[in-house]
Amino acid sequence: MAIRKPRGTQDFLPEQIGNWHFIEDRMRKICKAYGFSEIRTPVFEDTKLFLRGIGETTDVVSKEMYTFSTSDDKEQSFTLRPENTASAVRAYLENKVYGKEALTKWYYMGSMFRHDKPQAGRYREFHQFGAEVLGSQSPVVDSEVICMVVQLLKDFGLQDLNVEVNSVGCPNCRPAYRQKLIEFFEPKKDQLCPTCQERLYKNPLRILDCKNETCKALSVGAPEIHEHLCEECHAHFEELKAFLHAAGIQYNLNPRLVRGLDYYTKTAFEVQYTPLGAQSAVAGGGRYDGLVEELDGPHTPAIGFAMGMERLLLALEKQGLLPEPIVESSVFVLALGEAAKVEAFKICQALRNEYITAEMDGQGKSMKAQLKYANKINAKYVIILGDDELANKEAIIRFMESSEQETVSLDTLVNRISSLVKG
Ligand SMILES: [Zn+2]
Ligand SMILES: [Zn+2]
Repeated sequence: MAIRKPRGTQDFLPEQIGNWHFIEDRMRKICKAYGFSEIRTPVFEDTKLFLRGIGETTDVVSKEMYTFSTSDDKEQSFTLRPENTASAVRAYLENKVYGKEALTKWYYMGSMFRHDKPQAGRYREFHQFGAEVLGSQSPVVDSEVICMVVQLLKDFGLQDLNVEVNSVGCPNCRPAYRQKLIEFFEPKKDQLCPTCQERLYKNPLRILDCKNETCKALSVGAPEIHEHLCEECHAHFEELKAFLHAAGIQYNLNPRLVRGLDYYTKTAFEVQYTPLGAQSAVAGGGRYDGLVEELDGPHTPAIGFAMGMERLLLALEKQGLLPEPIVESSVFVLALGEAAKVEAFKICQALRNEYITAEMDGQGKSMKAQLKYANKINAKYVIILGDDELANKEAIIRFMESSEQETVSLDTLVNRISSLVKG
């Protein structure tokens, strides 16, 4: 039995990589425009980081993490990162970034790992692009983050975006709201799905975004957080809406948008691309003013988002918004005979030193097969080197599009090709 890739993982072959570069380049560009710098953190971390940073009651932590220890230290538990926010905060604290700058704006992209049941469009190793702003409690930064996500998606050409925003309150106002929710759902407890029965006392807000139809029906008429926000949360939310309005961002209020993670405060948002149906959520994020302290750091208000890169590629593919592959012009050096081979190798190296794509035969192919290969790699110029040419210290350049040929001396060959390729 041949070894196969693990379930829920993907190989990206060269023909797909252009699409990844395309979205990654755009992401880097927009991050630059908004003043974000890239970070890269380890793919695995101390398990405690995610237990504390994400919350032990969340599905991610309780059911979906890849956790392991190594034979040399069975006491130490590691986990493949299921998301990047906790790692970013750990890096922020470990490198004492809070002592060096008042406001930190970071972005990341990379693999995340969760072993929930693989299904269409969901993977066990998946890729996220995300950003974090640490050090500001102003709704200005909440609005900037939302604007950046929307602008990125719009610039890709995605039109039918649905931006949903909510406030999930803060430690001052949420406990009273939680209590109201518990009181609302308690009499209906037996009818809730098993997951929501478990959530009722631990995380009753999550009942509001349960996908189970019965739970959805039972939560009709549930108390809404907007009526329970404290003055500070209410003012923050009103300012956020004013900024979004000023930026021309259309949004919908969704009181059921509660986010799965415990550390979220105030702003929560999700950006959906509606033609994707059940998997329409392309990006989501929110404020997490309590996380840095939760991880033993100084009080640091923060907000971030994450975008599913596979989901984005799916949307772009569906709408035909991925670019045509770019065919770079290249050079093939066709050698006839042993002596010519050495000269051909020298020519290839000279061209590569100029960063011109150059190849020669490495498989002992016939002249005909070499020409066929030159066509396959879309060589725009083929340099032909035979014994006669070599004796005269010359080579023939064949222009593949027109089939025209010219003879040049070996001394000037590289310059001639260089001027042809670079224009
Ligand atoms: Zn509040
Ligand atoms: Zn439920």
